[in-house]
This record gives sequence, structure tokens and C-alpha cells, in this order.
Amino acid sequence: MQITGCNFIGAEESKRGERTFKAFDPAAETELAPQFHEATSQEVDAAILKAEQAFASYSRRSGLERAAFLEKIADEIMALGDALLQRCSEETGLPLARLTGERGRTVGQLRMFAQLLREGSWVDARIETAMPDRQPLPKPDVRSMRRALGPVGIFGASNFPLAFSVAGGDTASALAAGCTIVVKAHPAHPGTCEMVARAILSASQKSGMPDGTFSMLQGKSNDVGMAIVTHPLIKAIGFTGSFTGGKAIFDAANRRPEPIPVYAEMGSSNPVFILPGAMKKHSAAIAKGLAGSVTLGVGQFCTNPGLVFQMDAGDLTAFQSALSEAFQKAPSATMLTPQIHAAFQDAVASTAAQKGVNILASGAQTAGLQGVPHVLQTDAASYIENQQLEDEIFGPSTLSVTAKNKAELLDIASKLHGHLTATLWATDEDLESHTELIHTLERKVGRLIRNGFPTGVEVCHAMVHGGPFPATTDSRTTSVGTAAIDRFARPVCFQNFPDKLLPDELKNTNPLGIWRLINGEMSKGLL
Ligand code: NAP
Repeated sequence: MQITGCNFIGAEESKRGERTFKAFDPAAETELAPQFHEATSQEVDAAILKAEQAFASYSRRSGLERAAFLEKIADEIMALGDALLQRCSEETGLPLARLTGERGRTVGQLRMFAQLLREGSWVDARIETAMPDRQPLPKPDVRSMRRALGPVGIFGASNFPLAFSVAGGDTASALAAGCTIVVKAHPAHPGTCEMVARAILSASQKSGMPDGTFSMLQGKSNDVGMAIVTHPLIKAIGFTGSFTGGKAIFDAANRRPEPIPVYAEMGSSNPVFILPGAMKKHSAAIAKGLAGSVTLGVGQFCTNPGLVFQMDAGDLTAFQSALSEAFQKAPSATMLTPQIHAAFQDAVASTAAQKGVNILASGAQTAGLQGVPHVLQTDAASYIENQQLEDEIFGPSTLSVTAKNKAELLDIASKLHGHLTATLWATDEDLESHTELIHTLERKVGRLIRNGFPTGVEVCHAMVHGGPFPATTDSRTTSVGTAAIDRFARPVCFQNFPDKLLPDELKNTNPLGIWRLINGEMSKGLL
């Protein structure tokens, strides 16, 4: 497939912009052809207008039609074959094996949403039948269900060029909900974005979806993204990326005359707490596993465990020497972009220069854009005094913090801001004697993990990939798993409507055979 560097205004290919840029190969440190044309404000406007026009038709397509469309997208992505993985690897420096897995996850989540639509109950249909004779006032017939929000703007992240990008979880869940979408392509992998956009457009055309259901705009400056966020016809934003980017977009959306929901999934330091019993039993295994988790994917995961808290109960030296050994042996690898590499190096140097912090161990120094693994250490008092130490360092590093006792550990937990995950290494006895810590952490994160590591997010119905601010801008939702669909729908109530005018989900005969809440009881029955 040829990559042309165009924008997609629905199916129309457009290159009106004079600002151009090229993709960059971080391993070879060279630019890649072709030139990409940044979308103009007229192109942004045209794409969003098309999304609005397509919404009327697309949002009314049945769940079965939308399911077939999502499955077709998955097929078209697979049909791109190795060429997609090859281009993606050139643009990101990520190895082909990792990208093969990520492609599997991407098509897997499209198919998972298709299955959700076929089952149908996600619409949360609720029916209260009328009681005309109720005293003192009659009760009307009241029925509600979730309906799509409207055209949605979507931003992907550099570190998941497939699974959190053009056809990633935000796209899959928004299209599943019945929203039309305008994607802002990521300038760190624009060619990958174009290939996936073509796959989606081909699936859209083959599935008979209206033109404008999907558009994609290229851009290296913030102008394109901001034009999408502030456009009056956009009704929600799905964002995955840095805190700086997500917060800027959230603030811009809230300054609009009509504010809209922004589901920004941002960075996180994912604290790990090692409790005394687990430290006694498993310190060597924890150290090894931790180093593996911190350095996986050159540490470029939002679930990277960037903070480790433990107590000194006489066994700390063994843990720290195992940790040092593991980090010294951990390989360096190419980071996603020169900017991410430079930011990582600066953040490690600046953290190491903070009061009470020092470098415990690091991997071998290398040339080019390779991220070198680092483990830093400090004591709880220095940590508590310095808020900067809680911030995410995007790359293969972690900060090991030693507390004097249980009270200090609890104090640290109670002062944490929001994160995506928290991990507890704990025996059964540890858990029983640290219930307050567990309850405190539950208020801070979206996912609590026991005796494992936070990297590796299972895509399933029960997953929560979210958390309180600043991990996200809306802690009520998840961006991974089927519950992600809730972000792009709102409840609509129909009062005293004739049956034939109701959506199928709410009709008396339950033609879709879905689970509904009828007068307070779950049922698949008819009325
Ligand atoms: P990024 O620099 O924030 O970029 C994400 C997207 O937002 C890009 O398209 C970028 O376009 C756009 N953008 C950024 N700032 C903007 C602004 N002020 N106005 C308009 N658009 C803006 O993030 P990244 O480097 O790609 O991703 C790495 C970060 O993502 C890490 O912090 C990582 O933890 C986080 N992440 C989080 C999750 C999660 O689920 N929570 C998953 C993966 C990654 P331009 O470059 O054109 O501005």
C-alpha cells in the first residue's frame, strides 16, 4: 500500500496544507518518506461537518450492522500484513514481535466490541410500565437506554501505535457506541496512522457505512488538535497521551461555550508496595520481576511501575543488591522519539539531583536514542518532602523509597495523587495487618494488583484502565475493556411513546432478545 501523506475527510483524500513534516526512524536516526501535510482549519472543519452529517445515519444503524463493521475493520487491518508492522517498527523503533502482539490486541478489541454489540445489553434498557390508575397521580410509561453522543475527536499516544492509536480502544468503543469519529493522527507514527486509516475506510465502504463515519487528520503542531477540541460540532474527546497534552485539551474543552466530556488517559507512576512478609519470602523474585516490568518496552508504558515503597526490616540489603544486579543486566533499547529520549534523560538526571536521592544502579551506557535502565533510591522523609518525586518518568526507571515503619508507609499512601494502578506484594498475613493501606490505595487508583506487576493490561469485560486525576480527567470510566463504550453514550428517556416509534431495544416484544430492567427486575422477556 502506498503512503501518500494525505488527510482523510471521510473517504476524500486531501492535501491542502502547506505545513509539511516527515516521519522519523529513531533506530536509524533518519527521516522517512513521504511528506505529510498538516491539516488546515478548513480541512478540520470539513471533516467534522461530514462526521455530523454521517452521524444521523450511522448512529441509527443496528448493533448487528455496527458489529459487522468493526469485524471488517479487524479483517482489513490484518490484510495489511507485514507491511503495516514493518512501517510501524521503522517509525517507532519497537520490535516486530512486540508489534505483532499489539496488532493482535487491536483486532481483538475490535472483535470484542462487536461481540458486545451482538449481545446488546450494553444499552442498559430500562422500562417502567404505566400505572394509569395510580393514586394520587397516574404513573406514565417511562423507558430509557443509552444513545451515542455525536461526533467524537480521538487522540492516540506514541507508545501504542496500534492499540491506542487510529484503530485503538477509543476508536473501537466510540464506533461501537454509534459515534462518528475524527482522529488526530500521531506525528510520531504518521505512516502507520495512514495505513490503518485506509483499512478503516475500506471497511466502512464495504460495510455500507455513510461517508464521514471516519476521518483522520495529520498534524505536528497543536493547532490541528485544538481545532478539533474547540469545534462546536464535536461532542466528546477520547485522548491517550501525556499529562501536559491531556490537561491542555481538557482545559480547552472546558473553556468552550458548550463544554464537552474529555476522557483523557494520561501518565501514571503506578506505585508498588512491598509488605514485610512478602519481602522476607520473595525479595529476589520481586527484584527480578520488578526490573523486568520497569524495562519492558523500554519503560514506555503508562503502567510502568515508577515508584516502589518498602520498609527496612533488616532484609533490605539483599533486595537492593538483587535490584541493582537486575538493572545492571537489563538491556537498553531505542526509545520512540528523540524528544522522549531527551525528556527521559533529563528527568533521570533531575531526579538524581534532588535532595536525598541517589542512583542505586543503571544499565550500560549506550549511544543513539537508547533508553538506559535506572533504579534510584531515597528515604521516605525526602520523598514526602518533595512532590516532584511522584511524577511519571516516561522510560525505564523506578524510584525505590524506604520507609521506617508501617505508619510512614501509610502516610505515603495517603498523600499519593491519582494513579492508574497500585500493586501490593503481600502474604495473607500482610494483607490482614494492612487493611487501612489497602483501603487508602483503593481511593487512589483504578486497579489494585496483588503479587504481580502492573504492566500488561488484560483486555476484558472487568478491566479498569483509569483512575483519579491526574491519571485521567474522569475517574468514573475506563479506556480498556468493554465498559469503555459507556464514555461515548448518554441515557435518553422516552415517556409515553407509542411502541412502534421506540428503538428496538425498548419495544414491548424485545425483538433483539436483550436483557432489560423491567419494573425493577432483569429480564429477557416480552411485555
Ligand atoms: P502526547 O505528546 O501528549 O501526544 C498525544 C497526542 O496529543 C498527540 O497527537 C499530540 O499531537 C496531541 N497533543 C499533545 N499535546 C497537545 C496540545 N497541547 N494540544 C493539542 N494536541 C496535543 O503523548 P505521547 O508522548 O504520545 O504519549 C506518551 C504519554 O502517554 C506517556 O505519558 C504515557 O504514560 C501516556 N499514555 C497513557 C496511557 C493511558 O492509558 N493512560 C496509555 C498510553 C500512553 P502533537 O504531537 O501534534 O501535539
